Amino acid sequence: MSAENAVAIAGTGVGGSFLDKDTSCIWRPFTQMQDAAPPLSVRAGRGVYLELEDGRRIMDCISSWWVNIHGHGEPSIAAAIAEQAKTLEHVIFAGFTHDPAERFSRRLLEKLPQNFKRLFYSDNGSTAVEVALKLAYQYWSNQGVSSRTRFIGFENGYHGDTVGAMSIGGNSGFWHAFKDLLFSLDAVPYPGTFVGDESVEVREKEALKAIERLFEQHKGGYAAIFIEPLVQGAGGMHMCRPQFLRQLQALAQAHQVLVIYDEVMTGFGRTGDWFACKKAATSPDIICLSKGITGGFLPLAATVTTEEIFSAFLGDRATKTFFHGHSYTANPIACAAAEASIALLEQTQSRFIDMHVLHEELSRKYLQNKSNITRLRICGTIVAFDVTTSHGTNYFDDVGRKLKERFLTDGFLIRPLGNTVYLMPPYCIAPEQLEEAYVVMSKAISA
Ligand SMILES: *Cc1c(COP(=O)(O)O)cnc(C)c1O
Repeated sequence: MSAENAVAIAGTGVGGSFLDKDTSCIWRPFTQMQDAAPPLSVRAGRGVYLELEDGRRIMDCISSWWVNIHGHGEPSIAAAIAEQAKTLEHVIFAGFTHDPAERFSRRLLEKLPQNFKRLFYSDNGSTAVEVALKLAYQYWSNQGVSSRTRFIGFENGYHGDTVGAMSIGGNSGFWHAFKDLLFSLDAVPYPGTFVGDESVEVREKEALKAIERLFEQHKGGYAAIFIEPLVQGAGGMHMCRPQFLRQLQALAQAHQVLVIYDEVMTGFGRTGDWFACKKAATSPDIICLSKGITGGFLPLAATVTTEEIFSAFLGDRATKTFFHGHSYTANPIACAAAEASIALLEQTQSRFIDMHVLHEELSRKYLQNKSNITRLRICGTIVAFDVTTSHGTNYFDDVGRKLKERFLTDGFLIRPLGNTVYLMPPYCIAPEQLEEAYVVMSKAISA
């Protein structure tokens, strides 16, 4: 890679007026705009690659913030969208329905544990979580139980950026500016584990004990417990064991507390099975889905629940109704995309099922005997590890930023979370392409 290219990647001089205009009027997510480098302008996406305006290719190793599960430009989804757009682009979803929503709902339920019977649509991960939160809260009040108003979450949990979702992930430190606005949450440790971990059982027991203590302390006071099952995403790619989820479920059930799985990231094959609940053989009360749902084509989300929760909202009094909805609830084009995506996922499921083995082989070959790599962890299609430095913790963010820039210079989109480096590739990635990403990581970390 030439120095010229490196400069271009930093964002100067690519695309001319196009970028100037862009930076002048757009406020970017999670970005300090004062000194932000101009963004890279993307012309097209095909498979694992993004094509920039200047003709260079970037391998998208994080599925564009975890949504493009099949890779970019998947033709069957594009075709389904075009077809649906010609027939019915949108219709109000109160009092009306349409085939794409009915068909996708049935198909999705077939993939979930049997007790899941009802879907509530919204349009992003945060709203899927808000819906779950409100459902759990009203579930109790609809039954005349006014005491169950508290929630338990996990340290480093991330559930989205709206106020309720921020509250559930409240102590992860992303939202310092809003801390007085959030409702209170009781947070317990997430028993994250890694390759070669010998103390996980102790930490699992401690986490369960902490939850049990809270249950005792606020007897009959909890509405629900929220968890990112198997993998905590934005909070640092921490991974827990299926055993823990089973114990958690038993404990919550014993205290009549609802279990809510935020599978916004883990859903649709990410963990090597269709859903984390399937992989862990658990059956929570509510599941939140979004990110991979349309294969990265359109925003859509579903909050899925059981007949038991649903029926608590039935009655002749309007007060039992779930008063929630969004303008684009169950948009037909998004539902058509989701249906095409799930059909494709059925045909290609061996890709996400088999990727775990590939990660094991490649991490043995490229990562495992490096002294500055610790806490290697693999779950399905995800691999993550921490990079240690001799400079102490304040340096970590800087390590992440430097690595990100270097990866981009080499043509790879890999965005570390602090000092945690991870890959979350589209399932279409070929073994040789995945190996390229490992080579790049291994070189950058040695340097
Ligand atoms: C990304 C994410 C969300 C929020 O989804 P958005 O679509 O960004 O609002 C919620 N929960 C988890 C686990 C996520 O990874």
